[in-house]
Amino acid sequence: ATTCKNKKIAVFGLGGSGMATARALEAGGGDVVAWDDNPDNVRKAEAEGFAVRDMHDLDWSGIASLVLSPGVPLTHPRPHWTVDLARAAGVEIIGDIELFVRERKALAPEAPFVAITGTNGKSTTTALIAHVLRSAGRDTQLGGNIGTAILTLDPPAPARHYVVECSSYQIDLAPGINPTVGILLNLTPDHIDRHGSMENYAAVKERLVAKSGTAILGVDDDYCRAIADRLEKAGRKVIRISVKETLAEGLYADGPRLMRAARGGAEELLSLAGTGSLRGRHNAQNALAALAACLACGLSLEEIKAGFRSFPGLAHRMEQVGRRGRVLFVNDSKATNAEASAPALASFDRIYWIAGGLPKAGGIESLTDFFPHIVKAYLIGEAAPSFAATLGERVPYEISGTLSAAVAHASRDAAQDGEGEPVVLLSPACASFDQFRNFEVRGEAFRELVLALDGVEPLGG
Ligand code: ADP
Repeated sequence: ATTCKNKKIAVFGLGGSGMATARALEAGGGDVVAWDDNPDNVRKAEAEGFAVRDMHDLDWSGIASLVLSPGVPLTHPRPHWTVDLARAAGVEIIGDIELFVRERKALAPEAPFVAITGTNGKSTTTALIAHVLRSAGRDTQLGGNIGTAILTLDPPAPARHYVVECSSYQIDLAPGINPTVGILLNLTPDHIDRHGSMENYAAVKERLVAKSGTAILGVDDDYCRAIADRLEKAGRKVIRISVKETLAEGLYADGPRLMRAARGGAEELLSLAGTGSLRGRHNAQNALAALAACLACGLSLEEIKAGFRSFPGLAHRMEQVGRRGRVLFVNDSKATNAEASAPALASFDRIYWIAGGLPKAGGIESLTDFFPHIVKAYLIGEAAPSFAATLGERVPYEISGTLSAAVAHASRDAAQDGEGEPVVLLSPACASFDQFRNFEVRGEAFRELVLALDGVEPLGG
């Protein structure tokens, strides 16, 4: 980051993105002093030659900025003392996205910058936009909260597009964020623990769209609708999107059809029918946002349609892994709690549901509305007995125990189903740690078991 040349910068948190930040700062001529509470990370940083110093003893007077890694608590449970010390010394506290924003301003302010936030759907929308831009031949960098640290991307250049997923934490640490296109998908009270109150949480998210050239806002919840109204009053360019109502202005979904409102009558821009990886109403919201963003970036409708058609979806999120006859196999291993399983259960009608693992508080009671979609449940892991108790007489189930038994039995039963489109769905509503290292390993295990079945045709990427 060239904007930090000859400045002394403290970097707190030396995981993947913290190390990427430290390296980028040093490459740009910054003077880095770093710290992490984890001795392993300290050793790694020292091995790379970084000055590592316990920030308790740091002389803050010469420090220009404190750069915090995602994951270092800022407002919850209570400010980390490093943050207190920096604040008391009047040192600005920022994150890697702010460094990128400054870098872009210095090197290529015209570089298209699409920033995405919201409570849900961020990664899907981010990946979809990047995929469509790339498939249209645009130079596209994808990063942020979705995985790749933003400072490891190629440096800003005029025609280089940045598609960046931002958590509220990252927005909090990026006071200058001014994307070309800012997207706020939705706001629900899922993460308020970290931000103290819903109002706080919404106010942080609003900052992403407040200074964007074009603001794309999902208006299906009250918080986002109020933000859209406010921005429009302030004279900003706002594009509203909805999956719940027919808008008079903006883009909305009519089933799988993505419509643009117009005075003379709405027009269909594209249809999601046939784009398997974007099933369900929640994905229509993500698709509308991506469509609006790609139009704002100047892509033609033909380019966007082609990109949507070839989008493989995200791994482990309602990912279609295979098909055998009418039976579809879907990996939704990312669903580590009941709410996260709801969209998948809502998206299919004849579900052979593989669920269980390490249970979370509340169990699956909140999924009762979707029980009519479930033909049979195959329960695995520690949660099996409690899930069985909740399903009771309402949904047929078996205690399969292991994932391999569940896949074997569910695929056998689904193959004998004479109706509609039977779906063998892994959407565990549980953490994986009782049987797997993490949800990715669980999802990979599912994919392998499915693809090892006789006659299964692989789908997706
Ligand atoms: P995020 O990056 O915000 O966590 P993802 O795109 O990774 O979101 O999706 C995670 C899960 O959230 C999906 O599997 C789906 O269950 C749900 N989801 C995705 N998009 C939406 C949306 N627009 N509204 C509500 N829920 C969604």
